[in-house]
Amino acid sequence: MEENARAHTGEHILFQALSRIYVGIKAQKVLITENRRSLFCEYGGELDWDGLYEAEKIANTIIREDRPVRKLFGTREEIEKMFPLIRAKWERIEDEKVCAVEVEGFDVAACSGEHVERTGEIGFIFITRVMRKGTIHEVEFEVGEDALQASLQYAFHGRRLQALAGTSMEKTYETFLNLREKNATLEKRLQKMGEDVMKTVTPFILNGMQVYAATFSGVDRKILADRAGVLIRQERCVVLFANEEEERSFFILARSKDVGIDVSLLLAEVLSRHDGRGGGRHEFAQGSARGEAYGALLEKVKEALGRFK
Ligand SMILES: [Zn+2]
Repeated sequence: MEENARAHTGEHILFQALSRIYVGIKAQKVLITENRRSLFCEYGGELDWDGLYEAEKIANTIIREDRPVRKLFGTREEIEKMFPLIRAKWERIEDEKVCAVEVEGFDVAACSGEHVERTGEIGFIFITRVMRKGTIHEVEFEVGEDALQASLQYAFHGRRLQALAGTSMEKTYETFLNLREKNATLEKRLQKMGEDVMKTVTPFILNGMQVYAATFSGVDRKILADRAGVLIRQERCVVLFANEEEERSFFILARSKDVGIDVSLLLAEVLSRHDGRGGGRHEFAQGSARGEAYGALLEKVKEALGRFK
């Protein structure tokens, strides 16, 4: 019960603090159960951590100041006269007498729930996470001892990350952003390299057909498949690509429309003998197996093409 009163009053203070940072934010509903304390707000923009942190600081100042929390009863007219700025969902209030809960000099809201008598009883308030669905933001928070425990836990994760980043607390976020950007650049460069390497593969001729056979390592599967798709648009053409991955290799076997060999069948048969499997369409197949399947596949392809008229 007491815990509820703390969470409930904490929510009044937190919402008022949020509305000073995010002008126009509206409280939609409050959910306070044994394991979850959530405030649902409606707001068109983003509730970013810079603003949430500012709101937390305001709320905790109000708590530390140990301000009185008063309850005043009256009709809507009387209450509105006393508190012109009262927060209330009048359409949801059916009782004739309304209860106004005032956090001295900070917030007034119409509320029939239970509240503490002084803000200091809340102890501490801490936002644990925010989830967004459209314009509705769920702000999860803790109060009292739970809030202290949560803040310790979050600080632990923050400091561990800071140690890993090898930078100051203030710069951890920026360091992570830089790393993410660098990673994206490297990925792009790697992709370009894969594409360039693939273009250097030259075919050999067998029975009047062009055979592009090559092995790669660590190339993106999509790049391999795209390149094979482009090559088989030529006449009388077969493509066999192998790509070394973690423990196994990935294979693509493809052919132009005018080469009447079922590559799916051929690939499946060879890979199954090398601890793997593959399949696809008659003209384009892929699969994975142990790396040495490449040699066996190439032999099979040569054999099939030798017979082909
Ligand atoms: Zn309340």
